[in-house]
Amino acid sequence: MALIVQKYGGTSVGSIERIQNVAGRIIDTVKQGHAVVVVVSAMGKSTDHLIDMANSISNQPSKRELDMLVSTGEQVSMSLLAMALNEKGYDSISLTGWQAGVETESVHGNARILNIDTQRINRQLDSGRIVIVAGFQGITTADEIATLGRGGSDTTAVALAAVLDASKCEIYTDVTGVFTTDPRVVKDARKLSAISYDEMLEMANLGAGVLHPRSVEFAKNYNVMLEVRSSLEKETGTIVEEVATMEGNLMVRGIAFDDNVTKVTVHNLPDDIVTLSTLFSKLAERQINVDIIIQNTSGNKTTNVSFSIDSGILTETMEVLESHRSLLNFDSITSEGNLSKVSIIGSGMISNPGVAAKMFSSLAGANIKVKMVSTSEIKVSTVVDGSLMISAIECLHEAFQLDARKPVHTAQ
Ligand code: ADP
Ligand code: ASP
Ligand code: MG
Repeated sequence: MALIVQKYGGTSVGSIERIQNVAGRIIDTVKQGHAVVVVVSAMGKSTDHLIDMANSISNQPSKRELDMLVSTGEQVSMSLLAMALNEKGYDSISLTGWQAGVETESVHGNARILNIDTQRINRQLDSGRIVIVAGFQGITTADEIATLGRGGSDTTAVALAAVLDASKCEIYTDVTGVFTTDPRVVKDARKLSAISYDEMLEMANLGAGVLHPRSVEFAKNYNVMLEVRSSLEKETGTIVEEVATMEGNLMVRGIAFDDNVTKVTVHNLPDDIVTLSTLFSKLAERQINVDIIIQNTSGNKTTNVSFSIDSGILTETMEVLESHRSLLNFDSITSEGNLSKVSIIGSGMISNPGVAAKMFSSLAGANIKVKMVSTSEIKVSTVVDGSLMISAIECLHEAFQLDARKPVHTAQ
């Protein structure tokens, strides 16, 4: 009997009615002859509500207690779903992360899964039960509850699919698949029938919240066949796989964006051999994640270095730099907030020169100034003013022919 792992996100289990709908879908899968392991997220926006409550008590709630708190969200949905299935005559059991054997590193709020001991899940499957597992949580070697980071239930699902050797992992969500860009932002976004692991990983890392980036890493590393689809509609979704054929002669598969970017510039650093290394080592020591880096040498023995960060860590970044002012020997630091990163992603660009040129000329045509750029084999990212983000996405969506209105001519 082939095993399928299904994951249902917050909106999909957002009410009792929705939970009944999910139970119905699981039963359909069982009727098709499959064993099913289900991973659930917390109902609706309940994780946000739990975090809000914690923040109303403390500006800096203990990370351990925060994990204790937010891990309760998934326990609500998993138990209700198990009850709904039992009520419909399908034997089911819910398991917390630790009961399901999900072991994580000892980090609160953003832990990685280290290992999954599948014995208990397998025993339950062997006795014919549908197993419901709480997403987003695991247990550390010190028996502490740790969570996997926002959106982490996707990763629980794919990791389970990998270790249980499932035939497929289905991620049920509130859109019908992975689109060329967020369909809630661009109404003409087109649903993709397939996308490669590498492209999906870039999309997720560059801001497309539809999949947790680590879930895509797991899927790639363990070759898990992944489908993103709707929990409310029957249509097939998007397959994430090793190699996805490009539709037509398109070079770009999709556009991702992140509207939380700040650019920091350190002015007049000594233009010597060690400065860059010292600067970025000091930031790394404090776990400050730097994204795009630009260096401008002025020719008079000094250099300006700009880099982009998540806006949420600006204060800490400034503190770190100020605390090393004498060591680094710079003049001043400035920052520019309210920026957005807009990225185009597609494996087709490996063999097609001119993609970046087309991106820049399209943005220039729309009068959008590019403030920073970074590239990899399959993506080009640009930082633009936050107020121009939507225009930039729309202009690129059009320029790279991603719109749903445009028929895609598949190469024969
Ligand atoms: P869930 O609660 O099911 O995990 P999420 O909110 O985490 O759902 O992810 C689904 C959302 O991801 C969609 O509602 C959509 O707004 C957003 N999204 C962002 N980029 C994309 C994209 N390229 N394709 C589809 N959805 C996207
Ligand atoms: N409930 C968690 C969150 O809201 C995990 C998830 O939904 O994947 O981030
Ligand atoms: Mg999600």
